[in-house]
Order: sequence, then C-alpha cells, then structure tokens
Amino acid sequence: MMICGVRSSLRSARAILGYVNKGALVAPTATRSAAPYKHYTTSADNNDSPVVLKDNPFAKERVQCVLCKHGIDPDYKNVQLLSQFQSPYTGRVYGRNITGLCKNRHEQVEREIIKAQNAGFMPTYHKAVEFLNDPKLFDPEKAIRPHKY
Ligand SMILES: [Zn+2]
Repeated sequence: MMICGVRSSLRSARAILGYVNKGALVAPTATRSAAPYKHYTTSADNNDSPVVLKDNPFAKERVQCVLCKHGIDPDYKNVQLLSQFQSPYTGRVYGRNITGLCKNRHEQVEREIIKAQNAGFMPTYHKAVEFLNDPKLFDPEKAIRPHKY
C-alpha cells in the first residue's frame, strides 16, 4: 500500500516534470549546430578531443639474448659458434651471468656442446685451437650480472 502510494506520487512528479523531455532539450541544440554557432561543433574531429596513441610510448624495449635476437639455433655441427660460449683456458661453458643467454638457449647450448664433444668435434678441456682468434662475444671479467655465489 505504501509502495503503491510512492509509485503514484512518482508518476505525478513525472507528469509535472513532463515538460523536461528529450524533444525540448534536443531542439535548441539542433538549431545551435546550424550556421551561427559553426565554431562550436562537437564532432569527433575536434582538436580538443583526447589524443589516442597507437602504442605505449613508455614501453620498455624487449630484452632478448643474443641467440633469440638473431634467431640462431645452436647445433652440434656448428662448432665455431659453440666454441664462442666456451672458456679458452678450461673448456667450460660460460655461465648465464656472462653470456646473458635465456635459460632455454643456455641449456640448448650446453646440450649441443656435450653432443659435439661426444662426437669428437670439439675439445673438452680447452677451446678449439682454430677458433682461438675468433672475436669474443663475452668477457668473463666483465659479466653482465654478478655471480650468484
Ligand atoms: Zn633467448
């Protein structure tokens, strides 16, 4: 009963405020968009509209390891490439803190080096002599990350 009373009062309020309908509001704006108010158009190509950027200007550059960046797949037959990841003194594979390889590629390089050593393509305790003068990709004295120990 109370609810019915409220509804009826709402209806009467709407009837009283009936003059504020869409037609009454739209009609003046429709006339405003005509010739005298030419400079106040609210179209989409307005200069005050917010600038929509295609991509984030603050986005950081994606960090990739050497092999991922150039799309190189380490192979046990490519001994010259694999020996660049090998220390010339001990024949050990450089750590990820020195090479900066991602975990996936580092494990792949280690696997291929072991495969090449087992196949007799690569020496175990030193770098292959014919590749000693190759340009050095990594400097173990200046590791990109400190060692974890
Ligand atoms: Zn990678």
